[in-house]
Amino acid sequence: MAADRVDAVVNLSKRRGFVFQSSEIYGGSRSAWDYGPLGVELKENIKKQWWQRVVRGREDVVGLDSAVILAPQVWKASGHLEAFSDPLTECRKCHRRYRADQLLEEYEERKGRPGTLEDVVCVNCGTRGDFTEPRDFNGMLRTMVGPVQDAGAEHFLRPETAQGIFVNYLNVMNAARRKPPFGIGQTGKSFRNEITPGNFIFRTREFEQMEMEFFVQPGTDEEWHEYWLQNRWDWYVDLGIDPGNLRYFEHPQEALSHYSKRTVDIEYRFQFAGSEWAELEGIANRTDFDLKTHSEHSGTDLAPIRETSTRWVPYVIEPAGLTRYCSPSCSTPMTSTQRLHQRRRGTRTVMRFDPRLAVKSRAAGEPARRPLAGRPRPRRGTAYSVERGLRRRRADRSSLPPPGRDRYAVLCHRRLRHPRRQCGHRPRARHDAPGTGEPGRGHELAG
Ligand SMILES: [Zn+2]
Repeated sequence: MAADRVDAVVNLSKRRGFVFQSSEIYGGSRSAWDYGPLGVELKENIKKQWWQRVVRGREDVVGLDSAVILAPQVWKASGHLEAFSDPLTECRKCHRRYRADQLLEEYEERKGRPGTLEDVVCVNCGTRGDFTEPRDFNGMLRTMVGPVQDAGAEHFLRPETAQGIFVNYLNVMNAARRKPPFGIGQTGKSFRNEITPGNFIFRTREFEQMEMEFFVQPGTDEEWHEYWLQNRWDWYVDLGIDPGNLRYFEHPQEALSHYSKRTVDIEYRFQFAGSEWAELEGIANRTDFDLKTHSEHSGTDLAPIRETSTRWVPYVIEPAGLTRYCSPSCSTPMTSTQRLHQRRRGTRTVMRFDPRLAVKSRAAGEPARRPLAGRPRPRRGTAYSVERGLRRRRADRSSLPPPGRDRYAVLCHRRLRHPRRQCGHRPRARHDAPGTGEPGRGHELAG
Protein backbone atom coordinates (compact mmCIF):
# COMPACT_ATOMS: atom_id res chain seq x y z
CA MET A 1 0.00 0.00 0.00
CA ALA A 2 2.72 2.39 1.01
CA ALA A 3 4.81 1.99 -2.14
CA ASP A 4 1.68 2.09 -4.28
CA ARG A 5 0.66 5.28 -2.64
CA VAL A 6 3.99 7.01 -3.22
CA ASP A 7 3.97 5.81 -6.83
CA ALA A 8 0.42 7.03 -7.30
CA VAL A 9 1.32 10.45 -5.94
CA VAL A 10 4.47 10.67 -8.07
CA ASN A 11 2.64 9.62 -11.24
CA LEU A 12 -0.28 11.90 -10.69
CA SER A 13 1.98 14.84 -9.78
CA LYS A 14 3.88 14.33 -12.98
CA ARG A 15 0.89 13.92 -15.24
CA ARG A 16 -0.82 16.98 -13.86
CA GLY A 17 2.29 19.14 -14.01
CA PHE A 18 3.07 19.44 -10.31
CA VAL A 19 6.47 17.81 -10.12
CA PHE A 20 8.85 16.42 -12.75
CA GLN A 21 11.97 14.42 -12.24
CA SER A 22 14.96 16.69 -12.73
CA SER A 23 16.96 16.19 -15.95
CA GLU A 24 14.55 13.47 -16.98
CA ILE A 25 15.61 13.38 -20.64
CA TYR A 26 19.08 12.36 -19.49
CA GLY A 27 17.79 9.58 -17.31
CA GLY A 28 16.84 11.77 -14.38
CA SER A 29 18.52 12.66 -11.15
CA ARG A 30 17.27 10.99 -7.99
CA SER A 31 18.44 13.87 -5.90
CA ALA A 32 16.34 16.65 -7.37
CA TRP A 33 12.84 17.36 -8.62
CA ASP A 34 11.50 20.21 -10.70
CA TYR A 35 8.19 21.88 -9.92
CA GLY A 36 5.90 22.17 -12.95
CA PRO A 37 3.35 24.85 -13.77
CA LEU A 38 0.90 23.80 -11.06
CA GLY A 39 3.57 22.69 -8.58
CA VAL A 40 5.29 26.06 -8.56
CA GLU A 41 1.97 27.78 -7.86
CA LEU A 42 1.22 25.37 -5.03
CA LYS A 43 4.67 25.87 -3.56
CA GLU A 44 4.34 29.64 -3.80
CA ASN A 45 0.96 29.46 -2.09
CA ILE A 46 2.41 27.42 0.76
CA LYS A 47 5.27 29.86 1.19
CA LYS A 48 2.85 32.77 1.06
CA GLN A 49 0.72 31.24 3.79
CA TRP A 50 3.80 30.59 5.92
CA TRP A 51 5.14 34.10 5.42
CA GLN A 52 1.78 35.60 6.31
CA ARG A 53 1.40 33.49 9.44
CA VAL A 54 4.95 33.61 10.75
CA VAL A 55 6.37 36.92 9.50
CA ARG A 56 4.02 39.50 8.04
CA GLY A 57 1.07 38.68 10.25
CA ARG A 58 3.07 39.25 13.44
CA GLU A 59 4.27 42.45 15.07
CA ASP A 60 7.28 40.70 16.61
CA VAL A 61 8.80 39.08 13.51
CA VAL A 62 10.62 40.63 10.54
CA GLY A 63 11.89 39.08 7.31
CA LEU A 64 15.30 38.59 5.73
CA ASP A 65 16.77 37.17 2.52
CA SER A 66 20.42 36.28 2.99
CA ALA A 67 22.92 34.81 0.53
CA VAL A 68 23.29 31.11 -0.26
CA ILE A 69 27.09 31.20 -0.22
CA LEU A 70 28.35 32.72 3.00
CA ALA A 71 31.92 33.28 4.15
CA PRO A 72 33.48 29.88 4.99
CA GLN A 73 34.26 31.11 8.52
CA VAL A 74 30.52 31.07 9.23
CA TRP A 75 30.45 27.28 8.92
CA LYS A 76 33.54 26.86 11.01
CA ALA A 77 32.03 28.95 13.81
CA SER A 78 28.62 27.32 13.58
CA GLY A 79 30.18 23.88 13.99
CA HIS A 80 28.93 22.60 10.64
CA LEU A 81 32.43 21.87 9.36
CA GLU A 82 33.07 19.47 12.26
CA ALA A 83 29.71 18.31 13.48
CA PHE A 84 27.40 18.30 10.48
CA SER A 85 28.00 14.76 9.36
CA ASP A 86 26.15 11.50 8.85
CA PRO A 87 27.45 7.97 9.47
CA LEU A 88 28.23 6.52 6.04
CA THR A 89 28.36 2.76 5.50
CA GLU A 90 28.77 0.68 2.37
CA CYS A 91 27.53 -2.79 1.41
CA ARG A 92 30.72 -4.83 0.88
CA LYS A 93 29.08 -6.92 -1.83
CA CYS A 94 27.42 -4.38 -4.15
CA HIS A 95 29.15 -1.19 -2.84
CA ARG A 96 25.90 0.69 -2.47
CA ARG A 97 26.18 3.38 0.18
CA TYR A 98 23.76 4.00 3.02
CA ARG A 99 23.32 6.12 6.08
CA ALA A 100 23.87 3.71 8.94
CA ASP A 101 21.41 5.45 11.28
CA GLN A 102 18.66 5.28 8.65
CA LEU A 103 19.23 1.57 8.10
CA LEU A 104 18.90 0.94 11.83
CA GLU A 105 15.82 3.16 12.15
CA GLU A 106 14.07 1.38 9.31
CA TYR A 107 15.01 -1.97 10.79
CA GLU A 108 13.53 -1.03 14.14
CA GLU A 109 10.36 0.27 12.54
CA ARG A 110 9.91 -2.97 10.58
CA LYS A 111 10.77 -5.45 13.33
CA GLY A 112 9.63 -3.52 16.37
CA ARG A 113 12.98 -3.97 18.14
CA PRO A 114 16.38 -2.31 17.83
CA GLY A 115 19.05 -4.12 15.82
CA THR A 116 22.64 -3.71 14.65
CA LEU A 117 24.10 -3.52 11.14
CA GLU A 118 24.69 -7.29 11.44
CA ASP A 119 20.92 -7.83 11.18
CA VAL A 120 20.21 -5.48 8.30
CA VAL A 121 19.69 -6.79 4.77
CA CYS A 122 21.00 -4.71 1.84
CA VAL A 123 17.94 -3.71 -0.17
CA ASN A 124 20.01 -3.62 -3.35
CA CYS A 125 21.58 -7.07 -3.40
CA GLY A 126 19.95 -8.90 -0.48
CA THR A 127 23.15 -9.60 1.46
CA ARG A 128 22.66 -9.69 5.23
CA GLY A 129 24.92 -7.85 7.63
CA ASP A 130 27.91 -7.22 5.36
CA PHE A 131 28.46 -3.49 5.83
CA THR A 132 31.63 -1.48 6.37
CA GLU A 133 32.24 0.26 9.71
CA PRO A 134 30.31 3.59 9.58
CA ARG A 135 32.49 6.67 9.11
CA ASP A 136 31.57 10.34 9.30
CA PHE A 137 30.57 11.98 6.05
CA ASN A 138 30.15 15.77 5.99
CA GLY A 139 26.79 16.80 4.62
CA MET A 140 27.77 20.18 3.19
CA LEU A 141 28.05 20.72 -0.55
CA ARG A 142 31.36 22.26 -1.56
CA THR A 143 31.88 24.71 -4.37
CA MET A 144 34.74 26.83 -5.68
CA VAL A 145 34.33 30.59 -5.84
CA GLY A 146 36.44 32.86 -8.02
CA PRO A 147 38.86 32.24 -10.88
CA VAL A 148 41.67 30.66 -8.85
CA GLN A 149 40.92 27.15 -7.63
CA ASP A 150 43.05 27.14 -4.51
CA ALA A 151 42.19 26.35 -0.92
CA GLY A 152 40.94 29.88 -0.32
CA ALA A 153 38.37 29.47 -3.08
CA GLU A 154 36.57 26.64 -1.32
CA HIS A 155 33.12 27.68 -0.12
CA PHE A 156 29.96 25.85 0.89
CA LEU A 157 26.36 26.05 -0.20
CA ARG A 158 24.36 26.72 2.95
CA PRO A 159 22.92 23.62 4.63
CA GLU A 160 20.41 25.79 6.52
CA THR A 161 19.11 29.32 6.09
CA ALA A 162 19.43 29.94 9.83
CA GLN A 163 23.12 30.97 9.83
CA GLY A 164 22.36 33.85 7.46
CA ILE A 165 19.97 35.09 10.13
CA PHE A 166 22.46 34.76 13.01
CA VAL A 167 25.25 36.63 11.26
CA ASN A 168 22.78 39.43 10.44
CA TYR A 169 21.30 39.53 13.94
CA LEU A 170 22.79 42.85 14.91
CA ASN A 171 22.05 44.48 11.55
CA VAL A 172 18.40 43.48 11.68
CA MET A 173 17.96 44.35 15.33
CA ASN A 174 19.30 47.85 14.81
CA ALA A 175 17.59 48.48 11.48
CA ALA A 176 14.20 47.19 12.60
CA ARG A 177 14.60 48.65 16.12
CA ARG A 178 13.65 45.44 17.89
CA LYS A 179 14.79 43.69 20.99
CA PRO A 180 13.97 40.21 22.24
CA PRO A 181 11.50 38.68 22.20
CA PHE A 182 11.46 39.08 18.43
CA GLY A 183 12.03 36.86 15.42
CA ILE A 184 13.64 36.91 11.98
CA GLY A 185 12.09 34.76 9.27
CA GLN A 186 13.55 33.64 5.97
CA THR A 187 12.67 31.25 3.15
CA GLY A 188 15.10 29.96 0.57
CA LYS A 189 17.08 27.12 -0.91
CA SER A 190 19.44 25.02 1.15
CA PHE A 191 21.68 22.17 0.14
CA ARG A 192 22.73 18.94 1.82
CA ASN A 193 24.84 16.22 0.34
CA GLU A 194 22.45 13.41 1.27
CA ILE A 195 23.95 9.95 1.07
CA THR A 196 20.71 8.37 -0.01
CA PRO A 197 18.24 10.82 -1.49
CA GLY A 198 14.82 9.40 -2.06
CA ASN A 199 11.14 9.20 -1.21
CA PHE A 200 9.99 11.65 -3.85
CA ILE A 201 10.48 15.31 -2.86
CA PHE A 202 10.99 14.30 0.75
CA ARG A 203 14.77 13.78 0.88
CA THR A 204 16.62 15.70 -1.82
CA ARG A 205 20.04 17.33 -1.99
CA GLU A 206 18.50 20.68 -2.85
CA PHE A 207 15.43 21.86 -0.98
CA GLU A 208 13.61 24.92 0.18
CA GLN A 209 13.35 25.93 3.81
CA MET A 210 11.00 28.18 5.72
CA GLU A 211 12.88 29.10 8.88
CA MET A 212 12.33 31.58 11.66
CA GLU A 213 14.68 32.31 14.53
CA PHE A 214 12.87 33.69 17.55
CA PHE A 215 15.19 35.38 20.06
CA VAL A 216 14.08 35.34 23.69
CA GLN A 217 15.45 36.09 27.13
CA PRO A 218 17.14 33.06 28.74
CA GLY A 219 14.77 31.52 31.25
CA THR A 220 11.72 32.19 29.09
CA ASP A 221 12.99 29.87 26.34
CA GLU A 222 11.08 26.76 27.44
CA GLU A 223 7.82 28.64 27.57
CA TRP A 224 8.38 30.09 24.10
CA HIS A 225 9.29 26.64 22.81
CA GLU A 226 5.92 25.30 23.94
CA TYR A 227 4.23 28.31 22.38
CA TRP A 228 5.79 27.69 18.95
CA LEU A 229 5.08 23.96 19.11
CA GLN A 230 1.38 24.73 19.46
CA ASN A 231 1.44 27.61 16.99
CA ARG A 232 3.01 25.52 14.21
CA TRP A 233 0.76 22.53 14.87
CA ASP A 234 -2.29 24.80 14.55
CA TRP A 235 -1.03 26.11 11.20
CA TYR A 236 -0.98 22.65 9.64
CA VAL A 237 -4.39 21.75 11.03
CA ASP A 238 -5.81 25.07 9.91
CA LEU A 239 -4.61 24.37 6.37
CA GLY A 240 -6.57 21.16 6.22
CA ILE A 241 -4.22 18.45 7.43
CA ASP A 242 -6.04 15.83 9.47
CA PRO A 243 -4.64 16.02 13.04
CA GLY A 244 -4.96 12.24 13.12
CA ASN A 245 -2.07 12.15 10.63
CA LEU A 246 0.14 14.46 12.70
CA ARG A 247 2.16 13.78 15.81
CA TYR A 248 4.92 15.33 17.91
CA PHE A 249 8.21 13.48 18.04
CA GLU A 250 10.56 14.36 20.87
CA HIS A 251 14.23 13.88 19.89
CA PRO A 252 16.04 11.74 22.46
CA GLN A 253 18.74 13.66 24.37
CA GLU A 254 21.59 11.62 22.92
CA ALA A 255 20.47 12.29 19.34
CA LEU A 256 20.19 16.09 19.58
CA SER A 257 22.11 18.33 17.18
CA HIS A 258 25.24 19.94 18.58
CA TYR A 259 23.44 23.25 19.20
CA SER A 260 20.17 22.01 20.61
CA LYS A 261 18.79 21.82 24.13
CA ARG A 262 15.50 20.26 23.02
CA THR A 263 14.07 19.49 19.59
CA VAL A 264 10.54 18.38 18.82
CA ASP A 265 9.43 17.46 15.32
CA ILE A 266 5.96 17.73 13.94
CA GLU A 267 5.65 14.52 11.96
CA TYR A 268 3.23 13.50 9.29
CA ARG A 269 2.05 10.00 8.43
CA PHE A 270 3.56 9.86 4.93
CA GLN A 271 3.31 6.05 4.82
CA PHE A 272 6.56 5.66 2.95
CA ALA A 273 7.81 2.11 2.65
CA GLY A 274 9.94 1.47 5.74
CA SER A 275 8.96 4.61 7.62
CA GLU A 276 5.39 5.46 8.34
CA TRP A 277 6.05 8.83 9.97
CA ALA A 278 8.47 11.50 8.81
CA GLU A 279 9.35 15.04 9.77
CA LEU A 280 7.38 17.98 8.44
CA GLU A 281 9.00 20.56 10.64
CA GLY A 282 11.51 20.61 13.48
CA ILE A 283 11.15 23.06 16.35
CA ALA A 284 14.42 23.42 18.21
CA ASN A 285 15.63 25.30 21.24
CA ARG A 286 19.06 26.34 19.93
CA THR A 287 19.97 28.15 23.17
CA ASP A 288 22.56 30.93 22.85
CA PHE A 289 24.95 28.62 21.00
CA ASP A 290 24.89 30.39 17.64
CA LEU A 291 25.06 34.01 18.78
CA LYS A 292 27.80 33.16 21.25
CA THR A 293 29.94 31.25 18.80
CA HIS A 294 29.64 33.95 16.12
CA SER A 295 30.51 36.62 18.69
CA GLU A 296 33.63 34.68 19.68
CA HIS A 297 34.79 33.81 16.18
CA SER A 298 34.05 37.15 14.53
CA GLY A 299 35.05 39.42 17.39
CA THR A 300 31.76 41.34 16.97
CA ASP A 301 29.65 41.40 20.10
CA LEU A 302 26.25 40.22 18.97
CA ALA A 303 24.56 40.65 22.32
CA PRO A 304 25.03 44.24 23.44
CA ILE A 305 21.83 44.30 25.46
CA ARG A 306 21.86 45.38 29.08
CA GLU A 307 19.03 44.78 31.46
CA THR A 308 19.36 45.45 35.17
CA SER A 309 23.12 45.57 34.66
CA THR A 310 23.34 41.89 33.65
CA ARG A 311 24.26 40.98 30.13
CA TRP A 312 22.61 38.07 28.50
CA VAL A 313 22.82 36.45 25.11
CA PRO A 314 19.35 35.67 23.77
CA TYR A 315 18.22 32.09 23.41
CA VAL A 316 16.76 31.07 20.07
CA ILE A 317 13.65 29.07 19.33
CA GLU A 318 13.65 27.86 15.75
CA PRO A 319 10.58 26.53 13.96
CA ALA A 320 12.08 25.25 10.70
CA GLY A 321 9.66 24.01 8.09
CA LEU A 322 10.19 22.87 4.56
CA THR A 323 8.35 23.08 1.33
CA ARG A 324 8.21 19.29 1.52
CA TYR A 325 4.83 20.23 2.91
CA CYS A 326 3.89 20.17 -0.79
CA SER A 327 4.06 16.45 -0.49
CA PRO A 328 1.36 15.87 2.15
CA SER A 329 -0.79 18.58 0.74
CA CYS A 330 -0.61 16.65 -2.53
CA SER A 331 -1.13 13.26 -1.04
CA THR A 332 -3.53 13.61 1.86
CA PRO A 333 -6.42 15.02 0.03
CA MET A 334 -6.05 12.56 -2.79
CA THR A 335 -8.96 10.23 -3.15
CA SER A 336 -9.94 7.83 -5.84
CA THR A 337 -13.38 8.70 -6.95
CA GLN A 338 -15.82 6.50 -8.70
CA ARG A 339 -17.57 8.33 -11.48
CA LEU A 340 -21.27 8.01 -11.87
CA HIS A 341 -20.73 7.06 -15.48
CA GLN A 342 -18.10 4.58 -14.52
CA ARG A 343 -18.87 2.16 -17.28
CA ARG A 344 -17.63 4.77 -19.66
CA ARG A 345 -14.93 6.54 -17.71
CA GLY A 346 -13.74 4.28 -14.89
CA THR A 347 -12.09 5.38 -11.68
CA ARG A 348 -10.01 8.49 -11.44
CA THR A 349 -7.95 10.26 -8.88
CA VAL A 350 -8.89 13.70 -7.62
CA MET A 351 -6.81 16.14 -5.60
CA ARG A 352 -8.41 18.36 -3.03
CA PHE A 353 -6.73 21.37 -1.53
CA ASP A 354 -7.58 23.98 0.98
CA PRO A 355 -8.81 27.00 -1.02
CA ARG A 356 -5.85 29.06 0.20
CA LEU A 357 -3.41 26.56 -1.30
CA ALA A 358 -5.31 25.51 -4.39
CA VAL A 359 -3.98 26.76 -7.68
CA LYS A 360 -6.45 29.45 -8.55
CA SER A 361 -5.89 29.79 -12.28
CA ARG A 362 -9.10 29.16 -14.13
CA ALA A 363 -9.05 26.04 -16.18
CA ALA A 364 -10.73 27.07 -19.36
CA GLY A 365 -12.50 30.36 -19.24
CA GLU A 366 -11.32 31.24 -22.70
CA PRO A 367 -12.57 29.79 -25.95
CA ALA A 368 -10.90 26.56 -26.94
CA ARG A 369 -8.30 27.87 -29.28
CA ARG A 370 -4.66 28.68 -29.10
CA PRO A 371 -3.77 32.13 -27.81
CA LEU A 372 -3.28 34.63 -30.62
CA ALA A 373 0.09 36.25 -30.83
CA GLY A 374 0.08 39.63 -29.21
CA ARG A 375 -3.22 39.07 -27.48
CA PRO A 376 -2.97 39.79 -23.78
CA ARG A 377 -3.13 36.78 -21.54
CA PRO A 378 -6.01 36.63 -19.12
CA ARG A 379 -4.90 37.85 -15.71
CA ARG A 380 -5.17 34.54 -13.96
CA GLY A 381 -3.72 32.33 -16.63
CA THR A 382 -5.73 29.91 -18.68
CA ALA A 383 -5.03 26.36 -19.69
CA TYR A 384 -5.96 25.94 -23.33
CA SER A 385 -7.18 22.65 -24.63
CA VAL A 386 -9.28 21.21 -27.38
CA GLU A 387 -12.44 19.86 -25.98
CA ARG A 388 -14.49 21.45 -23.27
CA GLY A 389 -15.41 18.33 -21.36
CA LEU A 390 -11.84 17.16 -21.36
CA ARG A 391 -10.72 20.50 -20.03
CA ARG A 392 -13.22 20.29 -17.25
CA ARG A 393 -12.04 16.85 -16.27
CA ARG A 394 -8.41 17.91 -16.25
CA ALA A 395 -9.15 20.93 -14.15
CA ASP A 396 -11.06 18.76 -11.78
CA ARG A 397 -8.19 16.41 -11.14
CA SER A 398 -5.82 19.23 -10.34
CA SER A 399 -8.35 21.00 -8.15
CA LEU A 400 -8.65 24.02 -10.39
CA PRO A 401 -11.89 25.89 -10.52
CA PRO A 402 -13.97 24.65 -13.43
CA PRO A 403 -14.44 26.16 -16.85
CA GLY A 404 -16.79 29.09 -16.71
CA ARG A 405 -16.89 32.66 -17.78
CA ASP A 406 -18.01 34.51 -14.73
CA ARG A 407 -16.94 34.85 -11.19
CA TYR A 408 -20.26 33.62 -9.90
CA ALA A 409 -19.69 30.12 -11.16
CA VAL A 410 -16.23 30.00 -9.69
CA LEU A 411 -17.48 31.16 -6.32
CA CYS A 412 -20.27 28.60 -6.30
CA HIS A 413 -17.83 25.97 -7.32
CA ARG A 414 -15.58 26.71 -4.39
CA ARG A 415 -18.47 26.67 -2.03
CA LEU A 416 -19.57 23.31 -3.34
CA ARG A 417 -16.13 21.81 -2.92
CA HIS A 418 -15.42 23.13 0.52
CA PRO A 419 -18.28 22.48 2.89
CA ARG A 420 -17.29 25.18 5.35
CA ARG A 421 -17.70 27.76 2.59
CA GLN A 422 -21.19 26.77 1.67
CA CYS A 423 -23.24 29.59 0.36
CA GLY A 424 -26.59 27.90 0.28
CA HIS A 425 -26.95 28.67 -3.42
CA ARG A 426 -27.77 26.02 -5.86
CA PRO A 427 -25.75 27.05 -8.89
CA ARG A 428 -27.56 27.22 -12.17
CA ALA A 429 -27.03 24.12 -14.19
CA ARG A 430 -25.70 25.88 -17.24
CA HIS A 431 -22.87 27.40 -15.26
CA ASP A 432 -21.27 24.48 -13.58
CA ALA A 433 -21.59 21.60 -11.25
CA PRO A 434 -25.12 20.66 -12.15
CA GLY A 435 -25.16 18.34 -9.19
CA THR A 436 -27.46 18.10 -6.27
CA GLY A 437 -26.03 21.15 -4.56
CA GLU A 438 -24.65 18.97 -1.80
CA PRO A 439 -21.25 20.03 -0.57
CA GLY A 440 -18.45 18.07 -2.12
CA ARG A 441 -20.61 16.12 -4.52
CA GLY A 442 -21.52 18.59 -7.16
CA HIS A 443 -18.19 18.51 -8.80
CA GLU A 444 -18.01 14.79 -9.16
CA LEU A 445 -21.23 14.94 -11.09
CA ALA A 446 -19.97 17.64 -13.37
CA GLY A 447 -18.45 17.07 -16.65
ZN1 LIG B 1 24.41 -4.81 -1.31
